[in-house]
Amino acid sequence: MKRWKEKIPVANTLVGEEEARAVYEVVKSGWLSMGKKVTEFEEQFAHQVGARYAVAVNNGTAALHAVLAALGISAGDEVIIPSLTFIATANVVLYQGATPVLAECNPSTYTIEASEVRRLITDKTRAIIPVDMNGMPCDYDELLTIEDEYRIPIVWDSAESLGALYKKKKVGSIGKIHCFSFFPNKNVTTGEGGMICLESEGLYRLLCQIRNQGQERRYHHVHLGYNYRMTELQAALGLCQLTRLEENVQAKAAMAAYYNRELARIPGISLPTVPAFVTRHAWYMYTISVDESIRDEMVKKLEEKNIETRLSFPPIHTQPYYQRTFQYTNYSLPATYAVWSRLINIPLWNGLGKERQDFIINSLASIMKDIN
Ligand SMILES: *Cc1c(COP(=O)(O)O)cnc(C)c1O
Repeated sequence: MKRWKEKIPVANTLVGEEEARAVYEVVKSGWLSMGKKVTEFEEQFAHQVGARYAVAVNNGTAALHAVLAALGISAGDEVIIPSLTFIATANVVLYQGATPVLAECNPSTYTIEASEVRRLITDKTRAIIPVDMNGMPCDYDELLTIEDEYRIPIVWDSAESLGALYKKKKVGSIGKIHCFSFFPNKNVTTGEGGMICLESEGLYRLLCQIRNQGQERRYHHVHLGYNYRMTELQAALGLCQLTRLEENVQAKAAMAAYYNRELARIPGISLPTVPAFVTRHAWYMYTISVDESIRDEMVKKLEEKNIETRLSFPPIHTQPYYQRTFQYTNYSLPATYAVWSRLINIPLWNGLGKERQDFIINSLASIMKDIN
């Protein structure tokens, strides 16, 4: 079997004519910075995920950081996060001068373990940031119990799970604080962008100020704030993209089901585990798991066939900056490191099509046969 004629990207969110026109209209309107479109996007987003309030910001990292600032997280505080996540989840804790406390992940769902969270709670713990890895909701109920029991706020990093359902409830309205990202490989994109969904009116008002230089009214700054504002251009894009969310998630779910069925026949490839509480996976990424001794060779052979793959985000404790700052080694969290060493993300996006998908499946089968 030969190479595919052009490179098959691992992710690709559709942006079409409608978006181009919407952005053009904003350019023509002459009002480019935060304005009516941003408000409309916030209202539409809140409505779609069933949240009470939504605050748009300029990226997902800013969403997480603004929330930690609003919660008053500061030096000496600890924030529990999974080690298996994107670097932003950890960096925002450091931005506040606090300490990220890294938790092992569940070896089959790759999300944070509630038992691990309990084990890591101390009298300095001020927040917990669970991550819906690859678009699959964590076990929210177990973690919500911890939030109630210890009165420690949970900030849900839902950057990857827009469109997912946990026990039929929409991600965005399950917890008190959800953060989303609109980076181009997410289910909805605005180029760069983020959203904070909230239940509390007080936090909502505070976050509106924090994203806008901490001002209460013009040139009257009551908090240490940031310029985390979203532009009208991003909001116009986002409004169009929201109308595609259902289609994007449904298309990805159908393709994931096809992968699940076809790849199950290939010995040596393990498929994503989706617990019953996940009534709908948002399929940010489709992740297969192989023996760590063959992972890199598989990635290389897939690349030779013009199939792009992506390793999962390397655990936080493997990153040079964190190793230097906190004296971690790759084996400080052995379970997480072992899980990560086996994972490969393969292409999944609305528009991938059956032909490409069959090529990917057949390539995986032949590569596995060659390796073994
Ligand atoms: C994408 C992502 C973010 C936020 O990323 P931005 O690029 O700043 O929008 C945060 N956490 C996770 C887990 C992500 O995947």
